[in-house]
Amino acid sequence: MFVVKVGGRKELDYDAVCADIASLFREGQRLILVHGGSYQTNVIAHQLGHPPQFVTSVSGYISRRTDRRTLEIFEMVYCGKMNKGIVESLQKQGVNAVGLSGIDGRLLEGKRKSAIKVVIDGRKRVLRDDYTGTVKEVNTDLLRLLLDAGYLPVISPLAISFESEAMNVDGDRAAAAIAAAIKAEQLIILSNVPGLLREFPDESTLIERIPADQVETYMSFAEGRMKKKVMGAAEAVQRGVGRVVFADARVPQPVRSALRGKGTVIEQGDVKRQTSNVKRQASRNTHHETRGGVP
Ligand code: ADP
Repeated sequence: MFVVKVGGRKELDYDAVCADIASLFREGQRLILVHGGSYQTNVIAHQLGHPPQFVTSVSGYISRRTDRRTLEIFEMVYCGKMNKGIVESLQKQGVNAVGLSGIDGRLLEGKRKSAIKVVIDGRKRVLRDDYTGTVKEVNTDLLRLLLDAGYLPVISPLAISFESEAMNVDGDRAAAAIAAAIKAEQLIILSNVPGLLREFPDESTLIERIPADQVETYMSFAEGRMKKKVMGAAEAVQRGVGRVVFADARVPQPVRSALRGKGTVIEQGDVKRQTSNVKRQASRNTHHETRGGVP
């Protein structure tokens, strides 16, 4: 069982990611897909005359300023265009995907931030009308119901607060919460970079392996939005997910490539032994596919 998070950047080819996921799913691999949509949200927000704003928390994390209007735009793009586009692509490839947001069936439940402390133009401010929060509970019964019935869940990272308000949550951390709750063996985070880079944006400085107990010390290499990915990875491994991979969504067969250990692999225990196990598994899956068999 694994969870794949695919980012929301402009240049990502969702059909290619979906083709890879569909072939793994048809081979009998159980998985859950969590998607992004930041680029499209920015485009539509501009078109609707409510341009995006990003704020930096006092601890240095960047997030989308989510007033009520932004939350509605976020829902339109994530639950609408992005989620249905991905479900359509998977359906075209013979996979019975079901799109859900974290609001549906209280799939992702959490705490809305009643006040966020941010820095704007170098000055500290407190925002109280923000609809953002953190996932605390995952409705694994609902996920298992779908998985056991043969559906592939495609999840938009919105959540419902304990007071039943919709809210925007970070996609990488939501995927980490899902992976931990469902006891996934792996969490694969695909984006437009080959992994965590020691000297961003120089792609030749890829950090290939991080022992799980050291992931937080690698936070210093991450800038901007990458920090949330490292934070999500730390949360996932601390909560029992065996392996997290940051990998490139722009390569052919991006999920299989990540399963083979391409990217930044954050792993528990004996890294070498586990990597070779996963490589063997990925190459078995590839052989299976070239024989053209659907189990
Ligand atoms: P997504 O929308 O795919 O989830 P994000 O834009 O949120 O992706 O985060 C990935 C981005 O983080 C990369 O495109 C890159 O611009 C940025 N980044 C910052 N620091 C690093 C780093 N050390 N290594 C890789 N990417 C980094």
